[in-house]
Amino acid sequence: MPELPEVETERGRLAARIEGRRISVARIDDPRLTRPEEPEWVAARLSGERVEAVERRGKYLVVRLGENENDSQYESENDSQSQVLLVHLRMTGGFRYAPASHERAVLELDNGTRIAYRDLRRFGTWLLLDADEAERHLAVRLGPEPLERRFTTAFLAERLAGRKAPIKAAILDQRTVAGLGNIYADESLWHARIHPLRPAGELTAHEVAALRNGIRRALRLGIRRQGADLGDGAYAGGRMQDEFRVYGRAGEPCDRCGTLLEKTRAGGRGTWYCPGCQV
Ligand SMILES: [Zn+2]
Repeated sequence: MPELPEVETERGRLAARIEGRRISVARIDDPRLTRPEEPEWVAARLSGERVEAVERRGKYLVVRLGENENDSQYESENDSQSQVLLVHLRMTGGFRYAPASHERAVLELDNGTRIAYRDLRRFGTWLLLDADEAERHLAVRLGPEPLERRFTTAFLAERLAGRKAPIKAAILDQRTVAGLGNIYADESLWHARIHPLRPAGELTAHEVAALRNGIRRALRLGIRRQGADLGDGAYAGGRMQDEFRVYGRAGEPCDRCGTLLEKTRAGGRGTWYCPGCQV
């Protein structure tokens, strides 16, 4: 499942090809992608749009669209707001720049580029909203971006205060750490030397500060390595899997203290940690 670094990698690749271009034709073949909207309705509204920017919030791709040439003759004050396509890749969604299996949608650009959306498991979503609606949609679901300044130790401490849930489960909440998922949560806790089953509300101020730094460190490394390629073909080319400190490594020695790493469960998720130096 893609997390912030994998989505950021997808964002960069998509932005390089689509920013500033016009979508001449959009085709959406899978009604699951756009429901409850009809795929034809969404495709028609994408066709003719210029792509102003491809941004990322948490695990969402935020595709900002500009003025639609086809619409301009009908434009009124109420209807002049630009649209935003929110793409959530969920399990296996992603954009491809050559014909691919499991294509669910295709965007043809004004320069002849063909961009396919591929999704083996079909959990991904495309949600087309007015810009204001998109902001609200994201604001209620996501906390601040963990790599931006607004993600402070004070914010994290406030979110964790009084919570009995294991810290691993608490930081998977997207309103606490936008974009974090199972892999980078485990890696973050290793960097912070915090045991994943510690009750979230019992962390000291010093530990919360270490956790904030650990989260940022793990995510930055993931971005630099272009995410993790877990061999399922979904996010090919990433190198982060070669640098996991704990994730998937039960029975191997800890890089920091040599203790054999262990696997447990936290918040219903497989969780890897070092019993020697994560306390
Ligand atoms: Zn260790």
